[in-house]
Amino acid sequence: MPTRSYKRILLKLSGEALMGDQQFGIDTETVAAIAGEVKLAKEAGFELCLVVGGGNIFRGLAAAEQGFDRASADYMGMLATVMNALAVQNALEQQGCDTRVMSAIPMASVCEPYIRRKAVRHMEKDRIVMFAAGTGNPYFTTDTAAALRAAEMQCDALFKGTSVDGVYTSDPKKDANATRYDTLSYDRVLSDNLRVMDASAVALCRDNDIPIVVFNIRERGNLARVLAGDGVSTTVSN
Ligand code: UDP
Repeated sequence: MPTRSYKRILLKLSGEALMGDQQFGIDTETVAAIAGEVKLAKEAGFELCLVVGGGNIFRGLAAAEQGFDRASADYMGMLATVMNALAVQNALEQQGCDTRVMSAIPMASVCEPYIRRKAVRHMEKDRIVMFAAGTGNPYFTTDTAAALRAAEMQCDALFKGTSVDGVYTSDPKKDANATRYDTLSYDRVLSDNLRVMDASAVALCRDNDIPIVVFNIRERGNLARVLAGDGVSTTVSN
């Protein structure tokens, strides 16, 4: 499917995308720049919803490897994603965008609980919806949450914003001969263990025929360019 035929997309950002040059946490300027990207895409007429990770604050698996109870650590990771979603919401609202944060773990005084029909309604009202707290379950990741919400919201594609402009044969930051794929099949990503998203997220996209578009979120105006079919990216589809 050509990029320009997408209307509704889910944007997945890792928590690390919010760190900027810091080693940890949330960098205000970086979050404002990301919000600017989302706003440009919205102004171009696309419907957007977002899933933000939590790896800039807390990762359940890493904590479990240090002896933490895995499920408790994962819940902490999910709470980290709520903090990130609130940060992105704040930046979007400062730029005049209408937004809602919906959490898979209900926390009534902070944001709305995730209710699929309500989320659809928000999108119909032209709001940018941010899905926080991942899937609400330990042992999952926000990649899988992104694939799940993209399917539930009937998104035309899942856009994965990274610090490189697509999927490469090897790490382009280390290997000068690395070349970028324009397109890839889901099965190739899975069989070659290419680091696009978690295997469960890729399989969920494959089973629901949702293309995954990997692009560079750090380049100004790039999300809108890729959505318009002009930018550089790798598309994973059947
Ligand atoms: N997490 C979870 N269930 C989910 C989504 C996330 O338990 O459905 C936890 C998990 O501990 C994970 C953390 O939240 O390490 C942060 O999410 P993730 O690592 O996916 O964030 P990203 O790598 O995208 O920043």
